[in-house]
Amino acid sequence: MNFDETPEEAAFREECRAFLAQHGEQKEPGRLRVTMSTMAEDEEAHVKACRDWQRTKAENGWAGLTWPEAYGGRGLTGLMQGIFLEEEARYDLPVGMFAQAIGMVGPTIITHGTEEQKQEFLAPILRGEQVWCQLFSEPNAGSDLASLACRAVRDGDEYVVNGQKVWTSSAHVSDWGMLLVRTDLDAPKHKGITYLLVDMRTPGIEVRPLRQATGGAEFNEVFLTDVRVPVANTLGPENGGWGVAMTTLTSERADIGSGHGMGWDTVLDLARRCGVTDDPVMRQKLVELFTSYEISRFMGYRIRTAASQGVAPGPEVSVMKIAVSDRLAFQGDLVESIQGASGMLWGEDANDDGYWQSMVFTGQWMARIGGGTEDVQRNIVGERVLGLPREPSNDRTTPFRDLLK
Ligand SMILES: Cc1cc2nc3c(=O)[nH]c(=O)nc-3n(C[C@H](O)[C@H](O)[C@H](O)COP(=O)(O)OP(=O)(O)OC[C@H]3O[C@@H](n4cnc5c(N)ncnc54)[C@H](O)[C@@H]3O)c2cc1C
Repeated sequence: MNFDETPEEAAFREECRAFLAQHGEQKEPGRLRVTMSTMAEDEEAHVKACRDWQRTKAENGWAGLTWPEAYGGRGLTGLMQGIFLEEEARYDLPVGMFAQAIGMVGPTIITHGTEEQKQEFLAPILRGEQVWCQLFSEPNAGSDLASLACRAVRDGDEYVVNGQKVWTSSAHVSDWGMLLVRTDLDAPKHKGITYLLVDMRTPGIEVRPLRQATGGAEFNEVFLTDVRVPVANTLGPENGGWGVAMTTLTSERADIGSGHGMGWDTVLDLARRCGVTDDPVMRQKLVELFTSYEISRFMGYRIRTAASQGVAPGPEVSVMKIAVSDRLAFQGDLVESIQGASGMLWGEDANDDGYWQSMVFTGQWMARIGGGTEDVQRNIVGERVLGLPREPSNDRTTPFRDLLK
């Protein structure tokens, strides 16, 4: 395992810092912020600020760092991109809105798109002109995504789409969506899926926000009624959408395990402010939390070292996600017990404007569920690391219409 950056990586980090310092202020150390959006007007301003920052990055050659140069990127490694993201996170800059577009849609269009699709979408994505959402999950298709039932029927040069999606992050502010639909009921479930690119302003698309336990409303239900999508907007082959979706999901999983972004020292600081650091039980728990942060840090080094040697991350990413999920669960309980009765307060009445209750305690499930639950990660470890047999099922060979639903 190599803990040091190569000279090129260290020089790149300096280059990132120089660029970022021209455009933003460093975040105040120790200041904790509740970052979810609860107000429509705040959201609008945030989206605009994200678009402006994305355009600035594109104009200065800092957008799509891992995209090939032929498509406006810089052809850098994922490790270099990680360095940029790490440095960007130290600054008060509006980020997040383009993670799906740059990190997931772009690589999928680059891999599977036609030349026309690349021309139409890639440059506007880099310039921050298109916010994208992922219309994959449905009420009966989450962990088992291939069970999706949203139906598309061909009518001349268009598909007519009917169905429902759920948990669609940012759909309410999106310009475009990556949409998985079922186009063949007679094929087994993985083989009758098609991947469409849909303009979110198409008539028949209704987006309904879902209010989360954290207080924010970043998720939505999306209802599609007789939505007409040009056949030209199919990404990859008709009925070959599962393979295309794997490219999108692999890009999503590259982010798994990146954790909460918050350090162990912020919990220690809370414990000091709440006066519990002399309590032997609390001390024991704080040490346990510190240990789990350190374990994740070293696992991160292992994944980074493999990546810098050109080795694609394997099931260790699942192990990392399980470790991070366990830590988030432990940490959520710990910050509540540190605060005692004041841990029941919310918003500005609470410590740090409610950061601990909304971002850490109720917010833990976002990272634990998104991108594949910890149970699903355990299945991956069971099958691919321990070599245990797959769960018995007939759904890889039975036509979708004959499956029990
Ligand atoms: C922060 C966040 C953002 C998201 N954004 C999007 C988005 O933008 N677009 C989108 O399409 N989706 C999105 N999702 C949805 C996400 O992909 C699903 O929530 C996730 O795949 C789990 O599916 P589910 O919610 O239907 O739960 P289910 O699959 O119904 O699972 C319910 C429970 O059963 C367990 N379980 C299921 N199958 C197994 C199994 N085989 N073995 C053991 N246990 C099992 C699960 O671990 C879970 O505890 C997002 C979710 C979160 C939390």
